[in-house]
Amino acid sequence: KWTGLNELREIYLSYFESKGHLRLPSFPLIPKDDNSLLLINSGMAPMKKYFTGEVTPPRKRVTTCQKCIRTGDIENVGITARHGTFFEMLGNFSFGDYFKHEAIPWAWEFCTKVLELPVDKLWVTIYLDDDEAHDIWVNEVGIDPKHIVRLGKEDNFWEHGSGPCGPCSEIYFDRGEQYSCGKPTCGVGCDCDRYVEFWNVVFSQFDSDGKGNYPPMEHPNIDTGMGLDRLACIMQGVDNLFLVDTVQNIMKHISKITGVDYGDSPKSDISLRVITDHVRSTVFMIGDGVMPSNEGRGYVLRRLLRRAARHGRLLGVHDTFLWRVADTVITENRGAYPELAEKRDMIVKLMRVEEESFSKTVDQGLSLVNGYLDDTVKAGGKVFSGAEAFLLSDTYGFPIDLTKEIAAERGLSVDEEEFARLMKEQKERARAARKNAGADAWAGENDQLEGIPETDFVGYGTMKTEGRVL
Ligand code: ATP
Ligand code: MG
Ligand code: MG
Ligand code: MG
Repeated sequence: KWTGLNELREIYLSYFESKGHLRLPSFPLIPKDDNSLLLINSGMAPMKKYFTGEVTPPRKRVTTCQKCIRTGDIENVGITARHGTFFEMLGNFSFGDYFKHEAIPWAWEFCTKVLELPVDKLWVTIYLDDDEAHDIWVNEVGIDPKHIVRLGKEDNFWEHGSGPCGPCSEIYFDRGEQYSCGKPTCGVGCDCDRYVEFWNVVFSQFDSDGKGNYPPMEHPNIDTGMGLDRLACIMQGVDNLFLVDTVQNIMKHISKITGVDYGDSPKSDISLRVITDHVRSTVFMIGDGVMPSNEGRGYVLRRLLRRAARHGRLLGVHDTFLWRVADTVITENRGAYPELAEKRDMIVKLMRVEEESFSKTVDQGLSLVNGYLDDTVKAGGKVFSGAEAFLLSDTYGFPIDLTKEIAAERGLSVDEEEFARLMKEQKERARAARKNAGADAWAGENDQLEGIPETDFVGYGTMKTEGRVL
């Protein structure tokens, strides 16, 4: 019925508006006043202060579609059907208002009545001892108790340090036998792509002190997260996230540039999916003011761009091309995220500059790294030297994680201790050199910049870093 990604977003947000929720736009990817997180990774992350009560929310019921980045999933991207480093998370939130008796039946109504997902393909998980949730699912919703699975802390209890936390209940879709890993243990909670988790309903009902005590909160909260891209994948019946309507258009553009079609080979398909994903995440990051650098968020951006560029090389492209694909990402997403259209020129330009700078050294770096790897493998070695990884990083712009990945493809690990030692020595040398250059040189400049927090992009004219205009 509702299948387009843009339609699905709208139908979700308006469903929860009909349940008294206030629709808010996505928050930016750079967290505000929160040093515990590099990039926003869930719908609830930018609203933490509404949950703790530190800030009063504009309404007790809120619904959003939040842009998210999860670099922790980078190794899954292109491999599993369901992980991107960028994705959109739909959510409905209750700040001390409704709780399980509303959140669970609404989630079910949305899945089965609005989306008309077949009941026999749906499964739910609950936290081990959450009998309250169990009883609501069985008695109020009426689902088959055989389709309820109890899972432990790792999957079904939400906790980040101290503060609001609690059990959760997740909804899975069974995509069928053909997606199963085939292991006898395959079932809900398996790592393979048969049972796809698409909605997490969190009951934050405890206020943990971080020392093992979980006193119940007077006004418990609801925080839910449903992957829009995953939902679209299920509704469209396609194999993976990158074949979803709007995302597929990005991949098609890459095929057009590279001359490699989706389906040509399993290896090139991985590269196509990786490039699609990484261009998506980097366009959104740059759009929210992240600048390439060797640290923090800027490193994440640089690493994603360079990883995508390397996959471009694997597909045989030697010209810069990511910046061209960026344009399609913007076209596909400008309806929901008008900020991308506003910043189009800046995004494309920045991407092109970063890509061109890497493209000067990437071929030489790749031939070096492959040479080292050939020699090491021939000699029966298992470890790639830290000195070589350092040279690749320092001279050829290869982020250490990229070198690690290329080495791992040949079964080698990198001597990271040696790499870290060489990095540190280099920083110390640079610092000493700046000191020696004297007070009237340009030298002090970089020292002053050290320790300054990441830059926020607040418009074309100004770059503001916590009150300082640079
Ligand atoms: P998984 O177990 O599949 O890695 P998760 O348990 O880490 O997912 P949650 O933290 O519960 O995911 O996030 C809520 C929802 O966000 C998920 O149910 C899923 O629909 C979506 N989601 C999470 N990670 C990703 C990702 N990397 N790419 C796309 N969607 C995601
Ligand atoms: Mg995960
Ligand atoms: Mg999970
Ligand atoms: Mg989950």
